[in-house]
Amino acid sequence: MIRKIALGAMAAAALALGTQLSGLAGIRDISKDPTQMAEAGKVPYEAQSAEELKTAASQGSAPEGTSEEGAKDQPAQEVASEELVSKPRTAEQPAKAEGADPKDPGAQPSEPVTIRRVGLTADMPYAKASRINTGEAVLYTNNAGAHGDLVICVNAGHGTKGGAKVKTPSHPDGSPKVTGGTNAKGAVESYAVSAGMIFSDGASEAEVTLKEAVLLRDELLGRGYSVLMIREEADVQLDNVARTVLANQYADCHISIHWDSTSSDRGAFYIGVPDALKTMEPVASTWEKSEALGEALIAGLRGRGVNIWKNVSMDLDLTQTSYSSIPSVDMELGDKASDHGSEALAALARGLADGIGSYFGRDK
Ligand SMILES: [Zn+2]
Repeated sequence: MIRKIALGAMAAAALALGTQLSGLAGIRDISKDPTQMAEAGKVPYEAQSAEELKTAASQGSAPEGTSEEGAKDQPAQEVASEELVSKPRTAEQPAKAEGADPKDPGAQPSEPVTIRRVGLTADMPYAKASRINTGEAVLYTNNAGAHGDLVICVNAGHGTKGGAKVKTPSHPDGSPKVTGGTNAKGAVESYAVSAGMIFSDGASEAEVTLKEAVLLRDELLGRGYSVLMIREEADVQLDNVARTVLANQYADCHISIHWDSTSSDRGAFYIGVPDALKTMEPVASTWEKSEALGEALIAGLRGRGVNIWKNVSMDLDLTQTSYSSIPSVDMELGDKASDHGSEALAALARGLADGIGSYFGRDK
């Protein structure tokens, strides 16, 4: 479904103050949008089992989504992405006419941000390794933003019902995990989406990551970036592979938001790439950028007074890391004992946005 929002001067001001877009009166559906029909043709597909993927890999017949194919698909992917992103701009015309001042036909579109839902399709690299993919992410295209050409994927960690009962291949080539973590070292399959931890005060990690993601979304939109939101509700039926595939497809970087399961309030850190993963594609082509992104985000957080863990990063073999063909990082913004009140979360959002600006050279 495609929605569009109208941001008037007041709404824009509210946006700058971090008001949730979903609370703005300007959001409305466009029932006659032609792109909606195209979207309707995209139906979730039967996921290929991990066993099939592994068999294909071991027989040397590359399953769709191997590194070679991913690399080869890259230019086509960019073209497709560009086409998709420009469609809503075209589709804006009727809405503009409907809401525009007839005395001022040259006025700028009154809807600088267009919103549409995007789902997984079988042709996307690595999509066949996903097992839970009936949900949709939400793409905010910032047509009027200074950095609208950059799409930042904001992935609120956890929040997939049934995600811990299903497993996906840990690596695109079927090889075993090189470190422990939520899943053991040596495992060839990992939880599709784990449940996440519970904070010392009883809040669930999944609900706090969602709050943070919404704050970061609004911070980024306010600064003029485009945003791909993986999850905007308590549950989205997208596993970690699907989340990563969508980020690869639509975004320029992928930031997942988590809090760690320790209870020492040791501070924020990022998950780095283990050495043993650095020769496996697509990690081999992206890990240096992912590490640089992680460092930039930490610097941004530090600049906002966020407590940073003394080690700064911890190398772990994550599904997100293993399938990312764009700069991608799991941010652990604290742990069970960390302050997750609204002021703390707002500072984190500003720090992450600062880090993103620094990484892409878009500092103000
Ligand atoms: Zn987590």
